[in-house]
Amino acid sequence: MVIGGGLHGASTAFHLAQRGARVIVLEADYVGRHSSGVNAGGVRTLGRPLPEIPLALMSREIWHRIVETIGDDAGFVPSGQMKIAESDAELAECQARVDLLQTHGFTHEKIIDRKTVLALEPAIAPHVTGAIWVEDDGYALPFRATAAFRRAAQARGAVFHEGTPVTRIEQSGARWFAQTPAGRLDAQHLVVTAGAWAGELAAQVGEPVPMHPEGLMLMVTHRAAPFCRATLGATGRPLSFKQFDNGTVVIGGKLIGIADLPARHGEVDFARLVKSANTVVDLFPHLRHLGINRAWAGVEAFIDDGLPVISKSRRAANLTYSFGYCGSGFQLGPGCGKLVSELVLDGQASLPLDAFAIDRFPVPA
Ligand SMILES: Cc1cc2nc3c(=O)[nH]c(=O)nc-3n(C[C@H](O)[C@H](O)[C@H](O)COP(=O)(O)OP(=O)(O)OC[C@H]3O[C@@H](n4cnc5c(N)ncnc54)[C@H](O)[C@@H]3O)c2cc1C
Repeated sequence: MVIGGGLHGASTAFHLAQRGARVIVLEADYVGRHSSGVNAGGVRTLGRPLPEIPLALMSREIWHRIVETIGDDAGFVPSGQMKIAESDAELAECQARVDLLQTHGFTHEKIIDRKTVLALEPAIAPHVTGAIWVEDDGYALPFRATAAFRRAAQARGAVFHEGTPVTRIEQSGARWFAQTPAGRLDAQHLVVTAGAWAGELAAQVGEPVPMHPEGLMLMVTHRAAPFCRATLGATGRPLSFKQFDNGTVVIGGKLIGIADLPARHGEVDFARLVKSANTVVDLFPHLRHLGINRAWAGVEAFIDDGLPVISKSRRAANLTYSFGYCGSGFQLGPGCGKLVSELVLDGQASLPLDAFAIDRFPVPA
C-alpha cells in the first residue's frame, strides 16, 4: 500500500507492480495534484548535493529510456542544463564545484567558457563569463510524466484510489492499516510517499522528521519566437528558466510563495515573482515586454538538512519512506521509485541510501 500519488508514489507503484507485487495507491486529492504535477519539470543532475548524484545519474538513465520504460515520452527533451556565471568570481565558484565533483569521480558537470555559452545560446546577454554545462540533462512535462507512471502502474495491476486521504496509520500483527474516510484498508507493506504531508504520518509511528513545507512558485509567459534551447539556471541568483517548443517560457528557481498545508494549497506572492522576472530581463533583455500568462505555487517538502528521506523505518517492520525532496525531486522520481521498490521487495537497494536514512534524526526521548 502506497500513501501519496505524486511522481514518487506513482513510480514506486509502477516498479513494484512491474515485479509482480499487488499494489494499491491512496491519494488524498488526485494523482499529480501537488508538486509532482505543477513543478518546473527540470530533469537536472547539475548542482545536486554529493549524496544525491548517484541517484540522479541512475534516474537520468531512466529518463533517457522513458518510452521503453513506461510507454510514454513524458514530454522529456534532453535540452541540456546550463548554470550561468555572470562574473569572474561566479565562474571561479563554478570551477571549484566541478573540481570538487571530479575528486569524487563525477565528470557529468563541465565548465564552458563565455564563447561556448554564446555559441550555444546566442540570445543571452553578453556579460556572462561562462557556465557549468550538463549536456544530457533536460526537462519533461510534470503532470504528463506523473500520469504516465500512473497509467503504466495500472497497466501492471496497480489500483489507485483518489480522493482518499489517510488520517491514521498503524500496524497490528503482520498487517498495516490505513484509516480513510471511506474505511480502513490494510496491506503487508506500507510505503509513505506523501510529500509535504509525509511528516505527519512518520510522526504517528514515532519518527518525527525536521521538515517544513514551502509554496514554490512558477510563472509562464506568453509565446515568444524561439530564442533559447537549454534549460538555464544562474550561479549568483535564483533562476530556473526554459522555453518550450510552443514558445512559452517557464520561469522559477526555488521562488518561495506561501504554503498552506492544512488547506493543501499553495499561494503566489507576486512581489517575489518580480525579482525573478528582473533576473530574466537582465539575462535576456529582449524579453522586457513579454507578458506573464499565469503564475502558481505548489506545496513542496523541505527537510532541514536539505536531503530527502529514502529509508526503511527504524521503528516498525515493513514500513518504507520516500519524501522530502527539497525542490528537486521530479528528476529523481523514476530512479527513486525503483530504489524504493527494491527496499520493499529485496530488503536493500541497488545504490547506497545511508545518507537518506531516517535514523540520521534523533529519536525523541
Ligand atoms: C514550483 C515547483 C517547481 C519545481 N521544480 C522542479 C524541477 O524543475 N526539477 C525537480 O527535480 N524538482 C522540482 N520540484 C520538486 C518536485 O516537484 C518534488 O520534489 C516532487 O514532485 C515530489 O514528489 P512527491 O511524489 O514526493 O510529492 P508530491 O508530488 O507532493 O505528492 C505527494 C502526494 O501525497 C498526497 N498525500 C499527502 N498526504 C496524504 C495522505 N495522508 N493520504 C493520502 N495522500 C496523501 C498528496 O495529495 C500528494 O499528491 C519543483 C517543485 C515545485 C513546487
